[in-house]
Amino acid sequence: MNAEVDRRLRVLVVDDKAFVRTMTGRVLQSAGVESVVYAAGGKEAIQYIKQTSPRISLVFCDLMMPDMDGVEVVRHVAELEHKPAFVFVSGANAALLSTAADMARARGLLVLGSIEKPISIEAVRGMLSRLDSARPARTTAPRLALTAADLKGGLEADQIALHYQPKINVRSRSIEGFECLARWRHPDHGLVPPGQFVALAEESGLIKPLTDRVLSLALRQCAAWNAIGFTTKLSINISAHLLIDLGMPDRIAKEASEHGLDPHQIVLEITETGVFQDAADTLDILARLHMKGFALSIDDFGTGYSSMEQLRRIPFAELKIDRAFVNGAGQNQKAKAILQSSAALGHNLGLSVVAEGAETQEDWDLLASLGVDVVQGYFIAKPMPVDGVLAWREKWNGNMAPKT
Ligand code: C2E
Ligand code: CA
Ligand code: CA
Repeated sequence: MNAEVDRRLRVLVVDDKAFVRTMTGRVLQSAGVESVVYAAGGKEAIQYIKQTSPRISLVFCDLMMPDMDGVEVVRHVAELEHKPAFVFVSGANAALLSTAADMARARGLLVLGSIEKPISIEAVRGMLSRLDSARPARTTAPRLALTAADLKGGLEADQIALHYQPKINVRSRSIEGFECLARWRHPDHGLVPPGQFVALAEESGLIKPLTDRVLSLALRQCAAWNAIGFTTKLSINISAHLLIDLGMPDRIAKEASEHGLDPHQIVLEITETGVFQDAADTLDILARLHMKGFALSIDDFGTGYSSMEQLRRIPFAELKIDRAFVNGAGQNQKAKAILQSSAALGHNLGLSVVAEGAETQEDWDLLASLGVDVVQGYFIAKPMPVDGVLAWREKWNGNMAPKT
């Protein structure tokens, strides 16, 4: 069993108490780690991480330390060029450990997990086994220096494309629809994800032309698929910034009817990134979209401003739980409680409950056990370009669809 530990693995144990350092070191060595170094405090730890050769690849870090606590250690390490992975160790409660782990991840570090003291060999083995499977530290992609003028040019040059991510009905395993996700095919930067340009569009008044473009690509695609007998639903993201445009419901309805589409095929996912600017206009627009037959979805539920008040006022058909509460929820009591309550709330309101961000079989099983209706996530498929959709569908229907 110990043979599985990489011989090059170098672990740093940071704890202000000498006996805890010694104990942790012994447990690590019994688990097969050959190289362990020790620091009695945060400052010393940072020096080790900066200078030690070969590099420290994993840090077992105590949270409560007198001179510099574990949270501060992380803040400093996040600024270094070499960032080892972290395991947090504490006698403190599980909620604090989980907050620290989230904080470190938000600073771009790879966190294998947390262990409550006294640490056991099983717990250490569990952490070490995650080191192989863990993805490289998810550093946020460097922000490209894109300006509103670039985006305007990109829109004019027809550089916006859609990728499609399937939404699967949990009970029947059939394809419920696809979410349309905007991509910018930039001549210099390649395929630019929406995280790099949607906010820019919102700030610069380009969100309207961007959404118009996305809508017309999606409606046209939906009609093309209808024409070959592939009838499905398409979900489109609508920024709350657009809910001041009283002409929008008529424009979308007109365009959908020009393509011969049934509005029920179109789901509008509303992300509330800020307080709705004008309550009367917003309600006017959403009520009319609903009356025209479009399905409204409350997106990113559980985050930001998506609130109970909106659920009460707006005729949503779908509640979409944000992936922050979905991926890994089986291991996180709080995420699981929020997931469970959101699903129950959606069902009590008569909504279809969708969970996004399912990455593993375990996520899927939990969602199924909670009665979630529709699942979207890497476990099923990543968003794909349009020319991959039909082949993917064929494969899915061949392997996964219920044999009726
Ligand atoms: P969103 O509406 O929450 O869309 C889901 C995002 O989660 C997508 O990122 C998708 O690729 C990602 N995702 C799906 N499954 C998984 C998973 O299992 N694991 C992980 N880690 N991620 C998963 P993407 O395509 O980068 O889009 C990011 C956001 O950009 C979207 O978040 C949406 O808010 C916004 N966006 C995308 N297209 C448009 C658009 O046409 N208009 C507007 N207003 N916003 C858009
Ligand atoms: Ca969405
Ligand atoms: Ca989301």
